[in-house]
Amino acid sequence: MSTGDGAGSRTALVEDLMERFPHVPKEAVFKEDLLRGGIAFDESALTDTANEASGEVKPKSYFIFSFDHGTLPELGEAALRRPPEEIVLTGGPYGLRRTVVSVRVNPNSPYRVAAGDDGLLGLYLGGRRIADVGLPPMPDYYRHKLANGKSVMEVAPTIQWGYLIYLTVFRVCQYFGAKEECQYCDINHNWRQHKAAGRPYTGVKDVEEVLEALDIIDRYDTAKASTAYTLTGGSITSQVQGRDEADFYGHYAKAIEERFPDRWIGKVVAQALPLDDVKRFHDYGVKIYHPNYEVWDRRLFELYCPGKERYVGRDEWHKRILDSAEVFGPRNVIPNFVAGVEMAEPFGFTSVDEAIASTTEGLRFFMSQGITPRFTTWCPEPTTPLGKANPLGAPLEYHIRLLDAYRSTMDEFGLSSPPGYGPAGAGRAVFSVSSFMDSLAPDEEAVEA
Ligand code: SF4
Repeated sequence: MSTGDGAGSRTALVEDLMERFPHVPKEAVFKEDLLRGGIAFDESALTDTANEASGEVKPKSYFIFSFDHGTLPELGEAALRRPPEEIVLTGGPYGLRRTVVSVRVNPNSPYRVAAGDDGLLGLYLGGRRIADVGLPPMPDYYRHKLANGKSVMEVAPTIQWGYLIYLTVFRVCQYFGAKEECQYCDINHNWRQHKAAGRPYTGVKDVEEVLEALDIIDRYDTAKASTAYTLTGGSITSQVQGRDEADFYGHYAKAIEERFPDRWIGKVVAQALPLDDVKRFHDYGVKIYHPNYEVWDRRLFELYCPGKERYVGRDEWHKRILDSAEVFGPRNVIPNFVAGVEMAEPFGFTSVDEAIASTTEGLRFFMSQGITPRFTTWCPEPTTPLGKANPLGAPLEYHIRLLDAYRSTMDEFGLSSPPGYGPAGAGRAVFSVSSFMDSLAPDEEAVEA
């Protein structure tokens, strides 16, 4: 497949898609291209973050996966001087509305963030400046440490421009090795590389530390930008600290809700668990459940998610997702899939038409039941089997047509943007790891408890 890697052909590709899909916001076309292919950072765009709490820019926290196109030793300066967690694009020749993009570092990307002659940061494609770049300010709560010296960024980082507190409380996955790990996931590698680099990266977070970090956020986030928290981590097939998956992730929710009742919208990303376990999540105070189905196609699910297939199986997984709507209500069951792996060589679909048809079949399966899936844009991390075989990711056309298909399938079933993601619409969305929220009709978010 040709993805047009040079800057000239990349501009032509982007502009062609903007023309062919005028109802997909042009901001989303750039955002998807940056998410699937990464961003290079000029030294002028990196700040000194030797002491991560003292800088002016909020650094990339590596909140669960690496989401980079190279290992830390391959990233050069960007590994030593952390890049920002996100960037915000505005203006430029395309007149972009405010667009928040999660940072995925790729020193070889044709997109580069650099300071212009005027000293202001811009996003460049080839030599052409295509947008102004804003960086996230260091939040006040990152400047305060826990009593034991740990940073808030390590224990309770925030993403999505401060909207979401991301609590990866278990940094590894019990699906381990080539026969069990999902073929696009680098959670275990990312844990190893941070340990090897001597960075603080707690394997299992202590519940008291989490509460202490949340207390700091609550105290210093005076604008109340933080709105939701996500509890997540690797799958638990046996136990962690004597708890099964529902009790392990659930006991953090219970502690948080007891200490800070309804201060944030509580979300859990976990496996599709049996109904009794799902009820426990709900009883612990979780409001939104993300039992991710990863990829819709049966053959690809079996190949890409061998651990989940072996321990649970695709049909049972889907049944459990539908069942969980009885507990949470269909609006509050939001399973994720990894957009783009449908087209990964050597097993994926070879045409965009087939890939979109398959993905849409999955959307219709869930949306016809009132359940709204959402997706993250696949980042082909090089230490994963699929990333290694597909360093350029999926074709940009797939991602743009998916945005189109997603919105029309939602319209068909009368659904609006899912709760817990902030505002929808180009120029308003804060969800940073795909542009599905940028592509939906503008609305204020509402949580249906
Ligand atoms: S279940 Fe799969 S995607 Fe989830 S953490 Fe484990 S290996 Fe990664």
